[in-house]
Amino acid sequence: MSDFRRAARAVIVGGGIVGCSTAYHLAGLGWREVVLLERHKLTSGSTFHAAGLVGQLRTSANVTQLLGESVKLYGRLEAETGLATGWKQNGGLRLACTPERWSEVKRQATMARSFGLEMHLLTPGEARAIWPLMRVDDVVGAAFLPTDGQASPSDITQSLAKGARIRGVRIIEDAEVTAIEVRNGRAIGVGTTLGPIACEAVIVCAGQWTRELCGSVGVNVPLVSIEHQYMITEPIPGVGPTLPTLRDPDRLTYYKEEVGGLVMGGYEHDPIAWATSGVPKTSGFHLLNSNWDHFQQLMELAMGRVPALETAGVKTLLNGPESFTPDGNFILGEAPELRGLFVGAGFNAFGIASGGGAGKVLAEWVVGGEAPYDLWPVDIRRFGRAQGDVRVVRERALEAYAKHYAMAWPGEEHHSARPLRRSPLYQRLCSAGACFGEKMGWERPNWFAGPGEDPEDIYSYGRTNWFPAVAREHAATRETVALFDESSFTKFMLVGRDAEAALSWICANDVTRPPGNLVYTQMLNTRGGIEADLTVGRLAPDRYYIVTGTGFVTHDADWIRRNIAPELDAHLIDVTSAYATLALMGPQARAVLAPLASASLANVSFPFGTLRELHVAGAPVLALRVTYVGELGWELHVPTEFALTVYDALMESGRAHGIVNAGYRAIETLRLEKGYRAWGADIGPDHTPLEASLGWAVKLRKNIPFLGREALELQRTTPLRKRLCGFTTEDVDVVLLGRETIYRDGERVGWLTSGGFGHTIGRPIGYGYVRRAEGVDEAFLRTGSYELEVATDRVKAEIALGPLYDPGMSRVKA
Ligand SMILES: Cc1cc2nc3c(=O)[nH]c(=O)nc-3n(C[C@H](O)[C@H](O)[C@H](O)COP(=O)(O)OP(=O)(O)OC[C@H]3O[C@@H](n4cnc5c(N)ncnc54)[C@H](O)[C@@H]3O)c2cc1C
Repeated sequence: MSDFRRAARAVIVGGGIVGCSTAYHLAGLGWREVVLLERHKLTSGSTFHAAGLVGQLRTSANVTQLLGESVKLYGRLEAETGLATGWKQNGGLRLACTPERWSEVKRQATMARSFGLEMHLLTPGEARAIWPLMRVDDVVGAAFLPTDGQASPSDITQSLAKGARIRGVRIIEDAEVTAIEVRNGRAIGVGTTLGPIACEAVIVCAGQWTRELCGSVGVNVPLVSIEHQYMITEPIPGVGPTLPTLRDPDRLTYYKEEVGGLVMGGYEHDPIAWATSGVPKTSGFHLLNSNWDHFQQLMELAMGRVPALETAGVKTLLNGPESFTPDGNFILGEAPELRGLFVGAGFNAFGIASGGGAGKVLAEWVVGGEAPYDLWPVDIRRFGRAQGDVRVVRERALEAYAKHYAMAWPGEEHHSARPLRRSPLYQRLCSAGACFGEKMGWERPNWFAGPGEDPEDIYSYGRTNWFPAVAREHAATRETVALFDESSFTKFMLVGRDAEAALSWICANDVTRPPGNLVYTQMLNTRGGIEADLTVGRLAPDRYYIVTGTGFVTHDADWIRRNIAPELDAHLIDVTSAYATLALMGPQARAVLAPLASASLANVSFPFGTLRELHVAGAPVLALRVTYVGELGWELHVPTEFALTVYDALMESGRAHGIVNAGYRAIETLRLEKGYRAWGADIGPDHTPLEASLGWAVKLRKNIPFLGREALELQRTTPLRKRLCGFTTEDVDVVLLGRETIYRDGERVGWLTSGGFGHTIGRPIGYGYVRRAEGVDEAFLRTGSYELEVATDRVKAEIALGPLYDPGMSRVKA
């Protein structure tokens, strides 16, 4: 081994649970010369003061799987290292005290079943039988997850550290990383209080200090510190070592057993931010002053549930700072701004639950150069410029914290840090009754209130108040014409002598067609999984215009840039802010646009799948003949300062044709009917185009090499093990949201990746992969009889292998 104080293969910054777990796994993958540096002592950041509850169920199957990896690891670690971990698999109880919460819990139980996690529904009496100290007079029902548990955070971290040392990792305490060294856009080492260390990979697991350390080299890690408190009681009669953990979201609190007493903490609606002018370099094992005044609200709620707390002695009220993120999920992966710099931070008070699995996938990410499976909900690239300002991050993180135990309503929007980013049409759309949602900082119209309606969401697990408005917008798009403000769409230019060669390698579809052509394509990883799903238009031999989803700006730019060979002359430029995007869709689209356009819109001169530069109402416009709603239409990309002119002219010209404003929720119902896939839901890095029935958009028949080709060619030689299918239910009142379980002939075969309603066909619609180890072919799919489990009830369903609504492409292409 070389002198680890000068050179290492990887340097891990931070000796909390996440750093130690990453070190343990990295060494387990065969990496030698791994050094972990901890400024103080191991566990001395947030880890030592965690309560230690370990729950697993999340809304993403893969993040649930990651938490399941923690549970598996904690179950075997003590035997492996000989160091106690305090791991107890006593199970976890979750209460529901309102009918709405009960609906949510039942949907969670179905989701757990979809993901293969055991979760039982209990009556209040059954719940009390396993948690006898609680009152259940207000409880509607409960759920029990038998594989959840609790651990001693410091012990488990020391055990991971010992396991890492056994595998050869050098762990150095009292050693601070003071700088990250960068050369040619790569992290190449760190400066430390012991001197510089050169390395291939810098892995920052520095908890609350991660944002500032990474910020020093231009890497954005949007997290902030928030105070979090729990109290520990003296022993209470009846509290035994086998007591399950308990979560009581309607009373904002959680509990676990500790030395015969209870740990009780919670998520108040008015959390307190910590270190707003920069996270101090505290001495290790730093705690904040107990804040009884603030904790009182949780105490009162808890005493209503556990009367024994009224008389129990209190050992301590612990107040610890912890890092929180704008969406309540942690942050993993290689920084898009700097190759060789990896991040594992922002654990939102579930770092003990996640630590084992997060360290495992982060180590695999470092070794393999890409995420081992789809980790989009926790991927560092889900953020962008909109999360670059710490004040914005703090406002949103405080909201996420306050909502931790609130009902997670379908379609719910955040209210903080808004409005931040507005399209030029914003005021017009406000006046037209828009109810806005937010994505990547953008205000986006979700739906438009009609006369007598308020443009405000009223959330529900049943039919929502926006259902009729979306139905109107949907019908107008199908029958007449609608205008959608899609200005938030991500737009890139790819320019340079080698633009074609670069893009042709990255895209699965053929983008070598001449200028004027528009191609729908996926970008694949080496496993054939779909990393991006976008539209590529060729403007000139050396210039492409690329359009992708609002939320994918950082991710897709990173994917494209990292896959351009360094010797090629091809440069990606984000031009999102330069162009507003107005999508004019519906059978009357041509009639509305033609009188304003400087060029013919006839099919012969402007066919489907092409783009043209022309003028609309005097404004220079890049018009794309494309659709995501299954109707005739154009996406008009307009320099932002011309956008209002074009919008006003279109609305004026469309008046005679009954034009309406329409929003994102109508786009969703329309695309569900047409069977267009959504990246991040129906398709993603774990699904290939063949599995998603998108083989038609892949150039396999042409002799052109592309990233992912070999994996697809191999996959073609064996039966597909899963296939994306559509489903409808006969019962029109069923509300499909995604994550519902799919049964074929009574056997669980998958779960829905999206759900919604098709207003033209008048039925609920879901999409999901039907899975079978021996293979899934058309005969197998067509012969089964299907059911969907919705909030624990089974409903009859029909499978659809093609679009559910199809006027024929002749109408779209007419
Ligand atoms: C009150 C409270 C209760 C909680 N309860 C639970 C729970 O029940 N279940 C659960 O799952 N989670 C819980 N958590 C969350 C959990 O504690 C954290 O998510 C987890 O400990 C985060 O681990 P980490 O390794 O990311 O960060 P940390 O433990 O903070 O480790 C980061 C380390 O990096 C070191 N460091 C920073 N900068 C440098 C540098 N420049 N050079 C070298 N070292 C550096 C720090 O000294 C620190 O030791 C709780 C948190 C709090 C505050």
